Amino acid sequence: MTTYHGSCHCGAIAFDVEGELQGAVACNCSMCQRKGSLLWFVPRPQLTLKTPPEAMRSYRFNKHLIAHHFCPTCGIHPFGEGTAPNGAAMAAVNIRCLEGIELDQVPVQHFDGRAL
Ligand SMILES: [Zn+2]
Repeated sequence: MTTYHGSCHCGAIAFDVEGELQGAVACNCSMCQRKGSLLWFVPRPQLTLKTPPEAMRSYRFNKHLIAHHFCPTCGIHPFGEGTAPNGAAMAAVNIRCLEGIELDQVPVQHFDGRAL
């Protein structure tokens, strides 16, 4: 199991994620298209927030199923939280915010979120 370190740009939001990063999702919904995020979905318990939750602001839209967390200081969106269809708590990590990974080597799967 690998531990990845992630953060926003200014460091007000920092976290660790455990798991093996084998791919990411590029979604074309109205939110992801604007952010340009590449998402890695992990069970929420695999993400450990290292900074106070009050440091984050959250944005919800559409069905309000996902809390898109962002930093009010630097504006970066490092991860979101939501619930999978089976009821499991999930985190959607923006792998662009992880340290020490080769983004170009992560296979990207395109997801048609606009159609939902
Ligand atoms: Zn920040």
